[in-house]
Parts: sequence; structure tokens; C-alpha cells
Amino acid sequence: MKCVICHGEQVEIIQVNEEINLGNDIVYIPVKISVCKTCGERYYDRQTMQFLEDIEKKLHAEQGKLKEVGKVLVYG
Ligand SMILES: [Zn+2]
Repeated sequence: MKCVICHGEQVEIIQVNEEINLGNDIVYIPVKISVCKTCGERYYDRQTMQFLEDIEKKLHAEQGKLKEVGKVLVYG
């Protein structure tokens, strides 16, 4: 497929960490999506969108399943 933003042809399916905010925290959700290697545009299929929406709804109830892998820090 071609990138609709930059018309580049290097759109590949790779695993990325999608970020979901949970209060002051950020939860990384690993998903496989198409990403344009030229401009970085991410393409989500309907299934992935639905998957992320479902997770977002469940996150508050399932916080116990999350593990801390780092901290988000603010400068200043
Ligand atoms: Zn692009």
C-alpha cells in the first residue's frame, strides 16, 4: 500500500507501542500495525482500533495486570 500522507511506498507492518493515558500514567500496548517508514504515519485497521478501544475501557478495572517498566518524568 501507498502512504496517503507522503505517497511513499515503504509502508510496512511492524510492532509498535501504542500509548494510552491512564491518569498520570502511560500504558504501552504493543500492536502490529502498518507504519510508513518515510513519514512515520500509522495506519490502524478496524480490528486494531476496536482492540485498543476495548483495552482502554478495561484498563481501569485491570490495573493489577499492569507492570511498571519505567517512569514518565517531567522537566521543570
Ligand atoms: Zn508517509
